Amino acid sequence: MTTLSRPLRLLLLGAPGSGKGTQTSKLLDKFSHINPLSSGDLLRTQIAAQTPIGREASSYITNGTLVPDMTMINLLAGELDSRGWLSPNASWLLDGFPRTAAQAHGLDTQLAANACALNLVVELDVNEDVILERIENRWIHLPSGRIYNLQYNPPRQPFTDDLTGEPLSKRDDDNAEVFKKRLVAYNEQLLPLKEFYDKQGVLTKVSGDTSDIIFPKLAKLISSQYA
Ligand code: ATP
Ligand code: MG
Repeated sequence: MTTLSRPLRLLLLGAPGSGKGTQTSKLLDKFSHINPLSSGDLLRTQIAAQTPIGREASSYITNGTLVPDMTMINLLAGELDSRGWLSPNASWLLDGFPRTAAQAHGLDTQLAANACALNLVVELDVNEDVILERIENRWIHLPSGRIYNLQYNPPRQPFTDDLTGEPLSKRDDDNAEVFKKRLVAYNEQLLPLKEFYDKQGVLTKVSGDTSDIIFPKLAKLISSQYA
């Protein structure tokens, strides 16, 4: 375990299936005191609990389109606040939010007011062909967001979560048709989002077609600046 010497407020950017969730688990194993928050996991929890936000979000997710910005900003603002993360001392990692420039603006206003702006934004750059093939093999443990790949990272028992023994499930939106729409949505939003963080001087990119290639680069980047 590596301890951070100063707070890290990290956003992982990357196409659907680029491995944000996998990199997040690996980072949690290596660096102590980082807290993860995935907007997709948060939405899936809301859907499972049939909350008003869950009911609103479910059709967007099923169709592979983005949930409206205001809904996302309010949801995430509330979540960051209730977790006590709006503080200059907390270290955390966001996956999947902000995803549009409007969301980035909304979040930035709130973070800046609490002296805890994002200090690192890393784009995971993975070949699209590689990504498409991965999705079909992906299974998740819904309550925790843990991700398995039947080929590269299979569970110890078939279709069963290693830690809890609970069943794994397939995401409704992890099929070829919806996945293509998610990729299009991602690519449409990417440039303005990157511009926003580039202007703040916090944007970097890590390239590679497997998580095992990307992770050492990402870990080195974080260690060199924050450990
Ligand atoms: P992966 O989890 O494979 O990296 P992804 O990034 O497309 O792929 P999630 O982040 O789990 O998947 O998001 C799933 C769906 O939830 C999205 O397709 C979208 O409908 C909705 N969603 C998640 N985050 C946001 C966001 N910040 N803004 C709008 N919609 C979102
Ligand atoms: Mg994800």
